[in-house]
Amino acid sequence: MPPPAGPTPEEAFEEILSLTPAAIEDVNALTIQAFQTRGGRIGSGLGGVIEALWGFYVNKRLTDSNYAVELAWISGHEYNDFACLIRDADWDPETKIGELLRVEVKSMVTAADESKAHFDRLQKELTPTDILAVFLWNWEPVEEGARRSYPKVTSYFVGRASQVAQLRDELHVARGGSFVESAKCPDGCKVIPCSHEGEPLNAKNIRERLSGPENSRGRKASYAANFGGLVRMLGVRGTSATEILKKFLGRDDDARKYIQFISKNFAKKTLANLGAEEIGEIDNLIK
Ligand SMILES: [Zn+2]
Repeated sequence: MPPPAGPTPEEAFEEILSLTPAAIEDVNALTIQAFQTRGGRIGSGLGGVIEALWGFYVNKRLTDSNYAVELAWISGHEYNDFACLIRDADWDPETKIGELLRVEVKSMVTAADESKAHFDRLQKELTPTDILAVFLWNWEPVEEGARRSYPKVTSYFVGRASQVAQLRDELHVARGGSFVESAKCPDGCKVIPCSHEGEPLNAKNIRERLSGPENSRGRKASYAANFGGLVRMLGVRGTSATEILKKFLGRDDDARKYIQFISKNFAKKTLANLGAEEIGEIDNLIK
């Protein structure tokens, strides 16, 4: 079957990126109008609402400008939240026919101690233009000194998931973690590649994801679930991790943007284990 006519995945990616600042303004304009409250609960699922609103507003802008793609909210429990489709084309989420790229959306509350959100998809599951979108939000007063507040998106990252995954994986190895190789699968799988190929194991050889090898279960929990923590994944200590961070900061890609985004908002957590000199050096690279 010939590929459908219309924008390439690369063009669709760029279009979604360029519409994002306006879509975030749309989200904040809606929440300040409709979501005003005293108090302001955290951990209530509002992050999920904000994630979806970004997708809907990007989609509205794609539609209003008659751009030849649209965002679809994927049903079911897949990793991805949105799929970018050729507008009005036939679509099969199973085979991905009609799709250009997929989008995974996460959110974090600025005031919360630790984000529970994870980006733990494996590199082999990502295409070069698949998007990771992360929104940071907080309850902000509707105006200075006001008693009522509203959920405001204060900062965000929207970029190539594969580049963030590469950074995440190199730091995982620097932390003593590894990835399952079929030929040496802890489950002794005979099929190559086995279904565990590329599954992350931590420094204690415990699987990080439920889909990892059965023989790598933890004693206390059936899997570790630290892999891909949105802030935690950048936590560095030791020379090799610092060198990796510096290497990615020397690149002009979305891994660099992700480091800048997280460091700007959570510097104390990501660089906490480094010496003053290293922090200074990395700070200079981040700016
Ligand atoms: Zn296996």
